[in-house]
Amino acid sequence: NKQLRKAVIAGNWKMNKTPAEAKELIAAIAPLVKDATVDVVACTPFVDLSAAQEAAEGTNLQIGAENCHWAKSGAFTGEVSAEMLSAMGVKIVIIGHSERRQYFGETDVTVHDRTRAALDAGLTVILCVGETLEQREQGITNELCAMQTKIALGGVSEEELKRIIIAYEPVWAIGTGKTATAEQANEVCAAIRETVKELYGCAAGDGITLQYGGSMNAGNAAELLAQPDVDGGLIGGASLKPQDFAAIVEAAT
Ligand code: PGA
Repeated sequence: NKQLRKAVIAGNWKMNKTPAEAKELIAAIAPLVKDATVDVVACTPFVDLSAAQEAAEGTNLQIGAENCHWAKSGAFTGEVSAEMLSAMGVKIVIIGHSERRQYFGETDVTVHDRTRAALDAGLTVILCVGETLEQREQGITNELCAMQTKIALGGVSEEELKRIIIAYEPVWAIGTGKTATAEQANEVCAAIRETVKELYGCAAGDGITLQYGGSMNAGNAAELLAQPDVDGGLIGGASLKPQDFAAIVEAAT
């Protein structure tokens, strides 16, 4: 079944790089991943999107955003709508990253609403779910990820599900250098896939691309990506290092 799914390696630049630096980074990454047989994405800060798009023109690198709002427009100071992203040619957006949940008050409900808006604007969504260390120790990881998935996907049609990628990102592994073991990553991805099967049926569950994210790097990517239910990666720190990012893309091929 893994062969039927699209492998996607996506960088999450977080709050890093100016537009000029974004251009340089894209220019450095693009030649290294030009022969990739998997989808390669760089999700950048809003202000870098234009520069990154320009630098990525004619390459196989897709440029994505890191968030979008749930409304089409309106009185939401400091926010950016999915419509705005779509209008500038952005095709993919991360929603529900744990840093958004942790520092910016995102809840399962706002994650659902933002996912809805992104789908309505024609975007593909990288939907992030994952447990904290405390939740893992309580033994509720699989249920929690299933619940986050169910709430986010409420009202999403089977047709729209084709534009959803789910990234399993254990919060304790993000930016900490602590990676989930390949077995842990696969177990939770398998549980998320089961949830999607429950909601949409077997074919849809078998077809959805699931990523692992959390300290994935050039050294551990191959083992994680070899797992039967891990189809790709969402890469933070290592996505800012061209050689490392390219090595992860290579490992996914
Ligand atoms: P990390 O971040 O690779 O730096 O751990 C992953 C993410 O937050 O998506």
